[in-house]
Amino acid sequence: MSTPERPSGGRFARTERTTPHRSREKITYERAAAYDVLDEALFCDVAFTGPDGAPRVLPTFHVRVGDTLFVHGSTGSSMGLGGREGFPVSVTATVVDGLVYAKSWFHHSMNYRSVVVHANARPVDDPDERWAVFKALIDRMGEGRSERSREASPKENAMSALLAIPLEEVSVKRRQGPPVEEPGDEDLPYENGVAEVATVVTGRL
Ligand SMILES: Cc1cc2nc3c(=O)[nH]c(=O)nc-3n(C[C@H](O)[C@H](O)[C@H](O)COP(=O)(O)OP(=O)(O)OC[C@H]3O[C@@H](n4cnc5c(N)ncnc54)[C@H](O)[C@@H]3O)c2cc1C
Repeated sequence: MSTPERPSGGRFARTERTTPHRSREKITYERAAAYDVLDEALFCDVAFTGPDGAPRVLPTFHVRVGDTLFVHGSTGSSMGLGGREGFPVSVTATVVDGLVYAKSWFHHSMNYRSVVVHANARPVDDPDERWAVFKALIDRMGEGRSERSREASPKENAMSALLAIPLEEVSVKRRQGPPVEEPGDEDLPYENGVAEVATVVTGRL
């Protein structure tokens, strides 16, 4: 996939919402680390309050452009993309790097890099911004793909809602390395180790 422009470095300010209860040593607020995950993950999950007041989470394709994450969907989708003034969302994206097998059930785990974003999502209505973001979404599927496919027709454009999610309140969590073992478990007659996991795209056009 093509790599979006990388804005200036730095760190996100930690907020109450991005402060974890557990494993604080695994959390970072480095902007570059967050953008690496968002640019590598093939999709994200968007959580929001549904029209019935109950929590919803929906997986969807995304693209990061500068300091904004964009997701799109049908104007009729329950993500409430069509015409709302903007609303609170929480978004997460994860890259799994390994399955971690320990000697005990308790310490089985995964190696991963994950991002959580808290934001107010804004519907994108400006035609120029919409065109540029939809182009970036298509190019994320494969470099130059937007030049090698037909642009959206006015009808298709009208059917597609677009949400801008500012990347301001963001945390990254990382777990890497071998399994943790309890003292005394090392000699148990069980195999342990890490099986690497990778997402492989074959036959890209
Ligand atoms: C692939 C995968 C598998 C996991 N499996 C487990 C599991 O089996 N059991 C388990 O307990 N946990 C698991 N986790 C970790 C889980 O996501 C939480 O981090 C964990 O439950 C501790 O949450 P907390 O109470 O500290 O978070 P909270 O205190 O509820 O979170 C507060 C804030 O901390 C930040 N934060 C918390 N977790 C993450 C994260 N993962 N990535 C980025 N920011 C974060 C967010 O901004 C969040 O709003 C897994 C994570 C991944 C990516």
